[in-house]
Parts: sequence; C-alpha cells; structure tokens
Amino acid sequence: MVRVAIMGAGGRMGKTLIQAVSESTQVTLAAGIVEPNSSLVGVDLGELAGIGKNAIQVTDSLEKVVNDFDLLIDFTTPAVTLANADFCAVNGKAMVIGTTGLSDSDKAVLAAAAEKVPVVFAPNMSVGVNVCFRLLALAAAALGDDYDVEIVEAHHRHKVDAPSGTALGMGEVVAKALGRNLKDVAVYGREGHTGARKPETIGFATMRVGDVVGDHTVVFGNEGERVEITHKASSRMTFAKGAVRAASWLESKSAGLYDMQDVLNLK
Ligand code: NAP
Repeated sequence: MVRVAIMGAGGRMGKTLIQAVSESTQVTLAAGIVEPNSSLVGVDLGELAGIGKNAIQVTDSLEKVVNDFDLLIDFTTPAVTLANADFCAVNGKAMVIGTTGLSDSDKAVLAAAAEKVPVVFAPNMSVGVNVCFRLLALAAAALGDDYDVEIVEAHHRHKVDAPSGTALGMGEVVAKALGRNLKDVAVYGREGHTGARKPETIGFATMRVGDVVGDHTVVFGNEGERVEITHKASSRMTFAKGAVRAASWLESKSAGLYDMQDVLNLK
C-alpha cells in the first residue's frame, strides 16, 4: 500500500485528507506535516482530524519523515508546494497537489519536478467536477461561437484567490474547445460603462460568502435559450476522496505530470 504523508495537516483540507486517507483501503496514512514552530507539532494526527488517536505524531519537516512515506498530498500554498516539489523530486516521492493560485512560472517548476517523479496536479480533485470538465468541452464544441459563455463561482469567506482555480480550469476547457486562448478573452468582473458584450469573451463572476464549499456554473447563452452546467460541492470530503483516488492511481505510474482527467480516464 502507498504510504501517504499530508502537508498542511492542520488546515481545512489537511484534516479532511487525514480522515479520507484513514478510511481508504488503497493507501495508508504515514505522516502529517505542519509549519515549523507550529503548536501542533507532536499532536496525535488522528486526534487533530477528530477521528480518534492513531499514534502518528504531527511533525514540522519532510526531512524528519523522509523514510516513512512514498507519496505527499499537498493542499497548502504555492510557495510551500513549490518547495515540496523540489524535495519530492530529489527524494523520489510521488505527489498529489491540490494547491490553487499557482502562476505559470510556478507550474513550470511542477513540470520540472514531474520529469523525475509522478505528479497529479488538479485545481479541483472532485470526481464530479472533472466529469463537468468533460461535459463542458462537449457542450462548447457543439454549441460553438454563437453562444456567450459566462462562469459564475461562489466560495467561503476564507478563500484567498479569485476566480477559483476550478473556474479558471473550466474557462480553459471551454476556450480550448472553441479555439480561443483564455488569456486573450477572459473578462474578470464588470463595472461601469462597459459597452456591449464582445462575442468572443468569457466572463467570470465571483462570490465570497459564508461557508460555501464550492459552487460553479458555466452558462452558454444565445437568443432563445441558455444551457447551464452546474456543480455544487457540499463537503470538502469530495476533494479529499478524489485526492486519495489520485494517490492510489499513481502507484503504478512513472514520472510525469498528470491531472484528474488522466486519473478518471476521461481523455
Ligand atoms: P488552509 O485551511 O489555510 O490550509 C493550508 C494549510 O497549509 C494551513 O494549515 C497552513 O498552516 C499550512 N501551511 C502553511 N505553510 C506551511 C508550511 N511551511 N509547512 C506546512 N504547512 C503549511 O486552506 P485550505 O482551505 O485547506 O486550502 C489549501 C489549498 O488547497 C488552497 O490553495 C485551496 O485553494 C486548495 N484547495 C484545492 C482543492 C482541490 O480540489 N484541488 C480543494 C479545496 C482546496 P497554518 O494555518 O499554520 O499557516
């Protein structure tokens, strides 16, 4: 069984991942890492996640547990994830990365690490969302250029990046299916006298409210009809279960950069 370490074990996703990995029959929980000097160092990992003691103590460095794990699941911040990618590449550890907000140059660092070890990187690990990506590609290709495309997303008040990585991912899928480059056609919010909508644009609107786990709707609109493809996450467990599925899938894979479409065989 793949021995899994969880980065950012004290975070919202970290705790959910501890639970999901503990419940899995495909992978086994080996370590949990928190920030250096965190008050959580030494705490029981199972207790931290509220699932009862499991006799694994929280640590504050990957070096200290380097011999205990095969794969790192990382849902933290871009800076932390990039440092971990270097560590994993050097030490031969596979990675499942869910961190969002990475720049193009950050992604290039991940791609370099993935030349040495297998990496699954996905802005949204939910199986349902990844099925939506496939549906969006089909819908965009069939509906074509006559339909306006707008993407609306809502997340909880603590989320620090916008639009969400998932909304951007949806935009990229639609743009690619329509033969456009998202960077050229994206419009992030509108205010004031904006003029009429330019047909090729893909608009994004963001809500940050309460405890919303993650809602995404892509609207394709033409005169006479609208098509809406919506996904609503009701619990972080959907992302954690997807990450566990990716971790298990990676066991037999060689070095390379994969996404959830690969994991779910949707390509
Ligand atoms: P969070 O609660 O803020 O968790 C991030 C954790 O990382 C915190 O516990 C933080 O510790 C920890 N951390 C920061 N620096 C660290 C370091 N040097 N070493 C070890 N741990 C460190 O945020 P979250 O809601 O769990 O989300 C985390 C990331 O996952 C975000 O980028 C989010 O957008 C993304 N996400 C992705 C998906 C997906 O499916 N791909 C789903 C949900 C969320 P402190 O609190 O001590 O700073």
